[in-house]
Amino acid sequence: MIKLHRTIEKESISDPLTGAFNRRQLDFHLTSCSTDFHEHRVPSCILMIDIDNFKAINDTYGHNAGDQVIIGVTQLIQSHCRAQDKLFRVGGEEFVLLLPKTVQHDAINVANKLKGLIKSARFVDNKAITASIGIAETSDELDNAQRWLKSADDFMYQAKTAGRDRICYPQ
Ligand code: GH3
Ligand code: MG
Ligand code: MG
Repeated sequence: MIKLHRTIEKESISDPLTGAFNRRQLDFHLTSCSTDFHEHRVPSCILMIDIDNFKAINDTYGHNAGDQVIIGVTQLIQSHCRAQDKLFRVGGEEFVLLLPKTVQHDAINVANKLKGLIKSARFVDNKAITASIGIAETSDELDNAQRWLKSADDFMYQAKTAGRDRICYPQ
C-alpha cells in the first residue's frame, strides 16, 4: 500500500516521458521563490529552455527519435545542475529550469554551459541540436510568479527571433 501510494504520488508530480516535474508543480515552486524575493530579498532565476526546430527532428527521424531527444535533453540538464535546482517540462520540447538563490550573472553561466552541452550531445543519428534560452531574475517589477515566468518566456522568444541557439536576458 505504501509503495503504491508513493508511486501514485510520484506520478502526480512528474511528467511520464521524462520524469521531470510537470506543469502542475511549477506554480507552487515559482510562487515560493517569488515570495522569498519579495519578502526576504532572496533572488532566484528562471531559465526558459526550448529546443530549436524540434518539429524537423520528428519529421526527419520519427516521433520515437523525437522522444529520445526530449529524454536526453532532460537527463543532460538534470545531471549538470545543482540539487536545489528544479526542472519542469512545460510543453512538448519546452522546459523551465528554476534556479533558487541565484542572480542573473550566475544564471547566464548556467545557461551558457547547458547550451554548449546540448549542442555537443548527439541524441539521434549524429545530428546536433540547439536550444534557445530566456532568463529572468526575480525583481520588484515582476511582482508575481506569472509575470516572472512571462518575462523568461518573452526573452526565450527574443532568442528565437534573433536566430535561435542563443541566450537572451535583460541587458
Ligand atoms: P522553434 O525553433 O520555433 O521552437 O520550432 P520547433 O519546431 O521546435 O517548435 P514547434 O512548436 O513548431 O514544434 C514543436 C513540435 O514538438 C510539434 C509537436 O509535434 C512536437 N512534440 C510535442 N510534444 C512531443 C512529444 O512528447 N514527443 C515528440 N516526439 N514530439 C513532440
Ligand atoms: Mg522548439
Ligand atoms: Mg516550444
